[in-house]
Amino acid sequence: MARYTGPSCRLCRRENTELFLKGERCYTDKCAIKRRNYPPGQHGQGRSKTSDYGVQLREKQKVRRIYGILENQFRGYFERADRLKGVTGENLLFLLERRLDNIAYRLGFASSRIEARQLVRHGHFTLNGKKVTIPSIQVKAGDVMELREKSRKVACINESLEAVVRRGIPQWLELDKGAYKGVVKTLPVREDITMPIQEQLIVELYSK
Ligand code: SF4
Repeated sequence: MARYTGPSCRLCRRENTELFLKGERCYTDKCAIKRRNYPPGQHGQGRSKTSDYGVQLREKQKVRRIYGILENQFRGYFERADRLKGVTGENLLFLLERRLDNIAYRLGFASSRIEARQLVRHGHFTLNGKKVTIPSIQVKAGDVMELREKSRKVACINESLEAVVRRGIPQWLELDKGAYKGVVKTLPVREDITMPIQEQLIVELYSK
């Protein structure tokens, strides 16, 4: 499936916020948002006026890029969120948060969601004791994600686990670092998603 393969930092600059797409680099002074906080491109510094539609579109693109989801798949998540009980915008974020690749990132097995997705695809994890390779699997409360025995010496995973302290693990997840195991204690609530997201703008965009 086609996927964006250009520079990640360009996406953050376009959305005018840190999307944390490049792991440890995002926490250093090399972060492009800290150095060049204006949209990319020849006219990046010249753009100023944005319509309501433009604001809604940018919010949708921002969330899509945070979680690394393609447009069609993202719309599918929205339609699913709309069918669920509760607030559609929040449901959308919960569905994205419950993806297996996001769980691997949140638990600290990877330094970015992109890396987490690759680790899942390459079969480094089990979910409830069974090998998994599908990043979009939705986890449930009580699910146990574990790094497979043969993957416990992979340097980048161990480095990520050491560095996870900096960004912290959300309260709905629990990591047993020594056992390379994480548990989904409960499902996330809105307060657990701390990125600056205005999900109602996405609902307005798709409701047009
Ligand atoms: Fe975004 Fe990270 Fe690049 Fe900073 S370093 S612009 S947060 S991807």
